[in-house]
Amino acid sequence: MQEDDSRLEKKKMGLTTQIFIGLIGGLILGVVLNLWIPHSYIRDDIVVDGIFYVIGNGFIRLMKMLVVPLVFCSLVCGSSAIGDTKSLGKVGGKTIMFYLMTTALAVTVAITVATIIRPGVGLDMSSIETGETAVAEKVTVTDTILNIIPENPVGALADGTMLQIILFALLIGVLLAKMGERAELIANIFNQCNELMMEMTNMVMNLAPIGVFCMIAKTFANLGFDAFVPLLKYMGSVLLGLLLQCLGVYMILLIIFTRLNPVKFIRKFFPVMAFAFSTSTSNATIPMNIDTLEEKIGVSRKISSFTIPLGATINMDGTSIMQGVAVVFAAQAYGMQLGPTGYLTVIATATLASIGTAGIPSVGLVTLSMVFTAVGIPVEAIMLIMGVDRILDMVRTAVNITGDAVCTTIVAHQNGDLDRNVFNRMEESNG
Ligand code: ASP
Repeated sequence: MQEDDSRLEKKKMGLTTQIFIGLIGGLILGVVLNLWIPHSYIRDDIVVDGIFYVIGNGFIRLMKMLVVPLVFCSLVCGSSAIGDTKSLGKVGGKTIMFYLMTTALAVTVAITVATIIRPGVGLDMSSIETGETAVAEKVTVTDTILNIIPENPVGALADGTMLQIILFALLIGVLLAKMGERAELIANIFNQCNELMMEMTNMVMNLAPIGVFCMIAKTFANLGFDAFVPLLKYMGSVLLGLLLQCLGVYMILLIIFTRLNPVKFIRKFFPVMAFAFSTSTSNATIPMNIDTLEEKIGVSRKISSFTIPLGATINMDGTSIMQGVAVVFAAQAYGMQLGPTGYLTVIATATLASIGTAGIPSVGLVTLSMVFTAVGIPVEAIMLIMGVDRILDMVRTAVNITGDAVCTTIVAHQNGDLDRNVFNRMEESNG
């Protein structure tokens, strides 16, 4: 058994290293293609928009394919394992509280960084590349709450409406636990489906290195570095905010609440971050996040199957950091003063926007219009930062899912569902 475990871990470490190599290799090749290989049919249509596009996006589609069945099955099994509604409510309440708290902290970090760096001061607006602005539809708070209840659960599953799926799966899980023997057959079917989806996840994950390589190579072949130059200060502020949140706020919370070694945590969690980085999609990262938390950190699926999909849907700390910095940046560029009320409004609306941001690429830019409108900044200002958002989207998605993982680990620890042996054992064989 012991031997099996260490062999499994060797294989996993192999995969981690491969993903890392894919990431760096893709980055180098992308930049080389952008800077030194002139446009041609072979470079553009065959390599970048052909091979890289098909393999990279094919891999993302495979991951997305897993999301709904995996989340549904593991949530049903997870909630039926937790059993009574009381402890489920306790886990849910705590998780949501941590999610909201980390998001509010994230916006505060962002505003502080941007106020110190002042990225928008002295901006030459005419040099900024502009494009079309997408505006978020206004949704009222009451509608947001009502939208959690699916009118048609099958429709919710078909559309991948995450909060509705979460609610429906929780109900099934809780009732299965309550009905016990009377529903044993269905409970077993769900358990086996869950196993099946986990196997499929492992299978797909073995393709991660090549998928990551192609995605990154394509992104950098198209972008290069030139597009970033005018907005370097803005990017620097967002990146600094993200770094502080990830290595500061999260790690401090982790130490205070769980006493786990933060360096070990990041090392073990890195492949998930790399995957989120290369896909810019929290949703597609759900299977890998749950898997890694269980196998390397020791978090029971009972907790993570509930909190990770929820986090990928409502907890976007990285996105709110971008939004916090963007507000200060635009306000400075327009010569506007925000004042204390303005800043409080930004914290409140960016936290709400984080709940409303779907875990797919570039949505944070759309919900940013909510925050801009709340403090009276023209929505057109989003065009200022659109040109450089792609790369920031990658980094903030990695932070988004790290936030989910840290909160989940804390909640699992408090619930007695964190197996420290797993955290330590894996580390020893890694070393
Ligand atoms: N791409 C982000 C995510 O999936 C959302 C965003 O900020 O646009 O987490």
